[in-house]
Amino acid sequence: MDSITLTTLFLIFLLAGVIVRSWLAKRQIAHVKTHRDQVPAEFAEKIRLFSHQRAADYTVQRTQLRITEGLFDVAVLLWLTLGGGLAWIDAILLQWISTDLWRQVALIACVVVFLGALQVPFTLYKQFKLEAKFGFNRMTPALFIADLFKGLAIAAILGLPLLILILWLMQTAGTYWWAWAWASWAVFNLLIMFIFPTWIAPLFNKFTPLDDVKLKDRIQALAKRCDFAIQGLFVMDGSKRSAHGNAYFTGFGKSRRIVFFDTLLSKLSPEEIEAVLAHELGHFKHKHIVKRLVISFVSSLVMFAVLGYLSSQAWFYEGLGVTPHTDMSNHGMALILFFLVVPVFTFALTPLMSWLSRKDEFEADQFAAQQSEASQLVSALVKLFDDNAATLTPDPIHSAFYDSHPPATIRIRQLAAA
Ligand SMILES: [Zn+2]
Repeated sequence: MDSITLTTLFLIFLLAGVIVRSWLAKRQIAHVKTHRDQVPAEFAEKIRLFSHQRAADYTVQRTQLRITEGLFDVAVLLWLTLGGGLAWIDAILLQWISTDLWRQVALIACVVVFLGALQVPFTLYKQFKLEAKFGFNRMTPALFIADLFKGLAIAAILGLPLLILILWLMQTAGTYWWAWAWASWAVFNLLIMFIFPTWIAPLFNKFTPLDDVKLKDRIQALAKRCDFAIQGLFVMDGSKRSAHGNAYFTGFGKSRRIVFFDTLLSKLSPEEIEAVLAHELGHFKHKHIVKRLVISFVSSLVMFAVLGYLSSQAWFYEGLGVTPHTDMSNHGMALILFFLVVPVFTFALTPLMSWLSRKDEFEADQFAAQQSEASQLVSALVKLFDDNAATLTPDPIHSAFYDSHPPATIRIRQLAAA
């Protein structure tokens, strides 16, 4: 491989990604608009026309925003790489910082903060304009700022030591540094999963034990039926930020808990909540969570191995707009280039990942239908789709490409047949 070939491939994949994304978005918008004035027959009795139209408008506007954001991201990526942005930042840091390791840490920190700062206007627009317009936003500007700084502080406290460790391994661990770096990364990830429920999540939300005795009994009966040990049932004040409802499992072993958003509890009946939880238990029983963890660890090992190879090739840097140093290390640059550019090439895998995820959703639905009432899950889903203004009429190709969950009509048809 030489640098011209890499540049060409990079540009081809980038352009193909833009074309596919825009084409899919156009299809989605057209499809949703075409079906805007009629509620699909299956839902005609449950969802009112104005609600269906609201979901259509919400979907269209979010899709439009995604196109704009995507084009902006492409421009930034081109500037950083072939446009010489990374080389420019590196040259400035070189004048200021003489220690090799700190210069590399600073390079990565600068790029991460820069990219994060560019996201802020989009996040602001989304939260305070789009979400607010459809009545979903509950966040105040003060909370937004507090979240932003807390997020930064946590990223620095947890992320910087890992980054320094990886850069140090690249420098000193020899040819197979990438295997050590991957192992460190994997341990770090497991650690985060372990401390997330008890240490990190409470920094952002309040968790109170579920005190509804009837609901608790119902959930404990379900857990017993499914032979699942629950360590705790908690309610989270999700309404602090958004009206969207959710429920999730978190943690391992002794810290394993079930968390309900208060917004979910206020919308669903106890029977419906049980059915939603049975679906989540289905993910556990079918080992979807472990499977995803294994997929993520294996694919990241492959990524680290590829990075191990690329980081020692001059064409990798030159093909992406950076002249590698000959008298000092390029490890920080290799890391940042790799993480910027890899998504351009892995975008093509999106439909495969979405398909795998939808397969898991069907399995979890089947489990819920066996352990609980399929009809209750259907009515919970209808309520959630309605409340979240999720479209009932997505474009089939757009949905097949992106959606981690099957479209409502197909999901409900399958549940009705269960
Ligand atoms: Zn699911």
